[in-house]
Amino acid sequence: MGKQAKAVICRELNKPPVVETVEIESPRRGEVMIQMGACGVCHSDLSATNGTIPLPPPLVLGHEAAGTICEVGEGVDDIAVGDPVVVSWIPVCGKCRYCVMGRPALCDMGARAAASLPDGTSRITDANGNPVNHFAGVAVMAEYATVHRDNVIQIDPDIPADKAAIVGCAVMTGAGAALNTAKVEPGSSCAVFGAGGVGLNTIQGCAIAGAEQVIAIDMSDKKLEFARTFGATHTVNPASDGDAVAKVLELTAGGADYAFECIGLGATIMQSYNCIRKGGTAVVVGVSAPTETVQLGAFMMPFQEKVLTGSMYGSARPSIDFPLLLNLYKSGRLKLDELVTATYSIDQTEQAFQDLEAGVNARGVIVF
Ligand SMILES: [Zn+2]
Ligand SMILES: [Zn+2]
Repeated sequence: MGKQAKAVICRELNKPPVVETVEIESPRRGEVMIQMGACGVCHSDLSATNGTIPLPPPLVLGHEAAGTICEVGEGVDDIAVGDPVVVSWIPVCGKCRYCVMGRPALCDMGARAAASLPDGTSRITDANGNPVNHFAGVAVMAEYATVHRDNVIQIDPDIPADKAAIVGCAVMTGAGAALNTAKVEPGSSCAVFGAGGVGLNTIQGCAIAGAEQVIAIDMSDKKLEFARTFGATHTVNPASDGDAVAKVLELTAGGADYAFECIGLGATIMQSYNCIRKGGTAVVVGVSAPTETVQLGAFMMPFQEKVLTGSMYGSARPSIDFPLLLNLYKSGRLKLDELVTATYSIDQTEQAFQDLEAGVNARGVIVF
């Protein structure tokens, strides 16, 4: 017995996503169905609609959500109907090499579930009876979603769904890059390129870690204003302040300890690498188009011992990090209320995507 649900679907690349009523299949063995409470509108959803993240339409979008378990499949005995959950867009299998070594963000099972559930099949059927793909292996921009058990983390019931939802992508990815991937040290200097939903969370991650200087770089003064709210001590708008690298080198007297690229462009990845000091760490958080490349000067590499690394989902360990981040929220150290600057109904999806593209929100969230 499945469920009818309104869902946000990318039907055709480079066209706005549409809202359709689809059929969500009941959970199979090892799966659960979620009645969605809220789903954030993330830049990655937009990237799936324009081909930057190359996944085949038709595709139900959404990968940043919270809701309540409404049905469990066979063999699921550690979570029950009525339990509140946040969706993790990587399933943590617990068995592969990467899970065992404590790096579940790199889980092999997650890598297989890009446009389907981990077993390669869909639980969504459209009005014509055709299967629809699952974005990021979850497809949670819908009233209901069936996902693998390993894609949900149980949370306390007293956290509002719109705040809990954004922990599942923007907050985990951004704050995790600072706290988990780079392990930012107290008293350090950080430069963050891009102050969108993820960048703002990298900024607050750096601030929570006790960074002395957090320099936000963005071409939008509005986003730089948000950045100050989330803990940026300095802001740089290259359009009015000139070269970002020169500015960071000047502000940090020789280079930042850490730089984070939260945009997904070869040019800003180069800037991140070029603005860190000897022995510093540059972290690539933004997802680039597959054609994007990075060109770095090779000569100085051995002399400077810089580290350039990626950060997948903030090096998330969802069952540890989601509760930890939500506890930081409850104690007032992690800003979530300030992040959700607009909520929409699913029928206002078009507006939500327009606002995302226009950059008017810190984060927009669809509330069901
Ligand atoms: Zn996302
Ligand atoms: Zn695994």
